[in-house]
Amino acid sequence: PFDVLVVGGGPAGAAAAIYAARKGIRTGVVAERFGGQVLDTMAIENFVSVSHTEGPQFAKALETHVKDYDVEIMNLQTATRLLDHGGIFEVELENGAALKARTVILSTGARWRQMGVPGEDEYRNKGVAYCPHCDGPLFKGKPVAVIGGGNSGVEAAIDLAGITSHVTLLEFDAELRADDVLQRKLRSLPNVTILTSAKTTEVKGDGNKVTGLTYENRISGDTHEVELDGIFVQIGLLPNTEWLRGTVALTPRGEIEIDNHGATSLPGVFAAGDCTTVPYKQIVIAVGEGARASLAAFDHLIRTSVP
Ligand code: FAD
Repeated sequence: PFDVLVVGGGPAGAAAAIYAARKGIRTGVVAERFGGQVLDTMAIENFVSVSHTEGPQFAKALETHVKDYDVEIMNLQTATRLLDHGGIFEVELENGAALKARTVILSTGARWRQMGVPGEDEYRNKGVAYCPHCDGPLFKGKPVAVIGGGNSGVEAAIDLAGITSHVTLLEFDAELRADDVLQRKLRSLPNVTILTSAKTTEVKGDGNKVTGLTYENRISGDTHEVELDGIFVQIGLLPNTEWLRGTVALTPRGEIEIDNHGATSLPGVFAAGDCTTVPYKQIVIAVGEGARASLAAFDHLIRTSVP
């Protein structure tokens, strides 16, 4: 069996694999897509110590670093089930294979919920963005929209109002769902317009980048256009944990519950990165969390394995 089997090959999984392999223990990584969300990212400018890189280049660097060590990488493989056989775990794959491990690190990440409207896919990374901490500065002094009036949408709008020229916040429902204190802060800002009962229907662009959006007023049925340079979609981040239901404790939103060692509810199973309850989903955080979960898994091994 593997001493440490990492499920997920994004920044968290790569860090976990490197930390485990450096202990000289048998380490494997199963990944549906090695690199993770970073593969879909253009510029990365907030990974501390790297002023600027591109997503695919960063993903390549993760892989190169992992391959410096004796790590068995099983790419393009999807885990479908985690079984606990009392001290030994089994991870079943979609292809029918099963892998045995003494400890497991879950780092399957998350995906942003999309609006599913025309233009969204075409202009992703060309004005359509999902992360204000990452892409906010790209829209300095320009008008943007935020889609979604929950806590993350309103937080994003407050954040972006300080960087961009104007923020239009569009909420599908008749009211914002964010906490009152956030709503009050948002309403106090001079360069924010709040539109409720507003259904975004299309992302407009000139072929190269976003130029605006259209929305429907759900009460009057009228259609309107807003000119802008960026659209931040904040309608939910979905953890890739559907396959773990009933195995480890998840929050109602599907995030894996972890303690301050990255331990899940199942002893010997750890978790790291965007699939967990850790706040602020960022690369630099996922990497730190992966390292922590890996060191905790090693601690678990030296306490439970007979040499
Ligand atoms: P992920 O990167 O999501 O990796 C998850 C891994 O698990 C992948 O390998 C995936 O294929 C695999 N996986 C999922 N399910 C299974 C399964 N069942 N079996 C096997 N493998 C599975 N953050 C920043 O810090 N700076 C930025 O500039 C930035 N820009 C971003 C831009 C975009 C467009 C997006 C989408 C995100 C951006 N982020 C940015 C966020 C950042 O990418 C994530 O926080 C980070 O990638 C999380 O790492 P992770 O390892 O936890 O998960």
